[in-house]
Amino acid sequence: MVSASHADSSLEALAATLDPSRRSWVSSANASESDFPIQNLPFCVFSRASDVPRVGVAIGDQIVDVHAALSRGLLHGDALAAAEACSHRSMNALMALGRLPARALRTQLSELLRAGGAGDDARESLGPALLVAQRDVTLHLPAVVGDYTDFYASVHHATNVGRMFRPDNPLLPNYKWVPIGYHGRASSVVVSGTPVHRPMGQRKGPTDDVPAVGPSRSLDYELEVAAWVGAGNALGSTIPLSAADEHLFGLSLLNDWSARDLQAWEYQPLGPFLAKNFTSSVSPFVVTLDALEPFRAPLAPRADGDPAPLPYLSDDRDRARGGFDLTLDVSLRTATMRASGDAPVRVSRASFLDLYWSLGQMLTHHASNGCNLRPGDVLGSGTVSGPLDGAQGCLLELTRRGAQPLTLPNGEQRGFLEDGDEVVLTGYAERPGAVRIGFGHCIGVVG
Ligand code: CA
Repeated sequence: MVSASHADSSLEALAATLDPSRRSWVSSANASESDFPIQNLPFCVFSRASDVPRVGVAIGDQIVDVHAALSRGLLHGDALAAAEACSHRSMNALMALGRLPARALRTQLSELLRAGGAGDDARESLGPALLVAQRDVTLHLPAVVGDYTDFYASVHHATNVGRMFRPDNPLLPNYKWVPIGYHGRASSVVVSGTPVHRPMGQRKGPTDDVPAVGPSRSLDYELEVAAWVGAGNALGSTIPLSAADEHLFGLSLLNDWSARDLQAWEYQPLGPFLAKNFTSSVSPFVVTLDALEPFRAPLAPRADGDPAPLPYLSDDRDRARGGFDLTLDVSLRTATMRASGDAPVRVSRASFLDLYWSLGQMLTHHASNGCNLRPGDVLGSGTVSGPLDGAQGCLLELTRRGAQPLTLPNGEQRGFLEDGDEVVLTGYAERPGAVRIGFGHCIGVVG
């Protein structure tokens, strides 16, 4: 059990790591466009050449080798358990410790990396000993994903998609009461950069007499956020909403690739199956809830007349700060654009505050029947779409199921994805009085 004074000092230390005036002696971290300033310090799993992968921490264009910091005796006290867990080849052991050990490690690394801090005088020797350039490493899936659950928390997405599949009845009556989700497939959750194979499957158009089987003709992306479960809960126990944050380790970007033609034919009566489980890509950096602390905010208000959440899904704290003020972008680059040296072009921008349900509500609901969540489980937010044009997080919505294709700057059109298309998800948090932090990229090329 953590004493109150211990928790207070840990919060004070956390506040110091978020101080916008803090700079690092790792100069690339101080660039205004860096996703990884010293205020972020996300965890990742990396390896060099034939090394066994282990857990590191990103800063600027570098990764801190936590194992090297531990071996040199640079870490102490509450950070030791977390640092030792970083010697594993996945983050599961670190996540299992819960948030406080990771906070202690993050706090000590921040002190070691800050200009004027403990490591500043020794930067000439510490740099080569502790830092590895991100361009020299392979980044791996952050954790062994035991279970992957995908929610459906954007009411805008649910309404837009529902209208296409069920014009008379777009939003089912349970939507505003229950954080809707389904159990996805963990084995096909992969790290950014893994090639995306176009799935085969059954499809049956409205005028077809019988289904046909073949490669999907309606391959789509879904812009989502992955929440990584930290400390789990025992089977039969629940997680009150007031404790939900303590079970969320951090966030990554998630692309829940979807085959819409397969989905339309198979999804009733039991929900998504082969249309969704051929690949789900996550970005390699796990941004901790501690780093996201300055960007907590209320979700967009519910519409007049909507029901209040049932008591187990509602408290003042979640109402005030259940959301994360993240801006999420989707960019697309076709094979032709890549051959011409063109950069990916942005096709959507959405706000993570436009969700109907908070991540805390999703986690609490998930465990409300006694379902045991485990360290490294992924909870997908569901496609993040906003109410306005250009804020739809998938092509199904953006192109009205392919009927209104996007026209790219070079004149190419896209209703759904073609082979060779590259989809890049990015995300960042930015607000006055805080340093902007980002998530890196979640990339996949089709074909
Ligand atoms: Ca999804």
